[in-house]
Amino acid sequence: MRLGIFGGSFDPPHLGHKHLAEKFVKICELDSCLIIPAYVSPHKHRTDASGVDRLNMCQLLFNEPHYEVTDIELKRTGKSYTIDTLESLVKSHPDDKIILSMGTDMLTCFTSWHRYKDILDLCDIFAFARENGGELKMHEYVEKNLPEYSDKIHIFAVNPLEMSSTEIRDLIEENADTTGYLSEEVRKYIDDRGLYS
Ligand code: ATP
Repeated sequence: MRLGIFGGSFDPPHLGHKHLAEKFVKICELDSCLIIPAYVSPHKHRTDASGVDRLNMCQLLFNEPHYEVTDIELKRTGKSYTIDTLESLVKSHPDDKIILSMGTDMLTCFTSWHRYKDILDLCDIFAFARENGGELKMHEYVEKNLPEYSDKIHIFAVNPLEMSSTEIRDLIEENADTTGYLSEEVRKYIDDRGLYS
């Protein structure tokens, strides 16, 4: 089985995340894609919404058969290092091919990731541009910083949907329309609970 991993803060999960996940499933011919909200991302200080709310919103957004939203990192607590998640998935899925996905910002700081070489020893990375021209930035970064891993890092330009959770939190705070950024179900969840306002 081909198992994809897509992690993030998902604070909140937006249509850019969904777009990446859809491309990831299709291009990698995944049987299943795990959506993994971080307890605390090592790249960020904190999240605005709780782990439970982020998990619930991911379930609303990725409510389709080939996605599985998992609380593996929320349950572990502490900093959510990808290598810890990966090692645990390799143990629980010994016969599967595991593939990791990420956007431009995450690939272009990859050598700062905890035990990044161990990550690359365990899986291939499929990286998707999250803005126009992002693929060039990623190719340059890999050529300069990770040349010995270039056969394990696959870079794609996929007509990105340019948006971020930060931008969307600001829109919600201003009570602005988020059509095209959030699914209706996720926006309703946010409004019902008064998140980000
Ligand atoms: P924030 O604005 O709070 O930093 P974010 O929008 O970057 O959040 P994350 O949850 O941190 O969202 O991102 C999780 C993963 O999704 C990362 O690998 C990131 O690169 C990728 N990603 C985020 N937004 C997009 C997008 N619009 N298109 C493609 N990939 C994206």
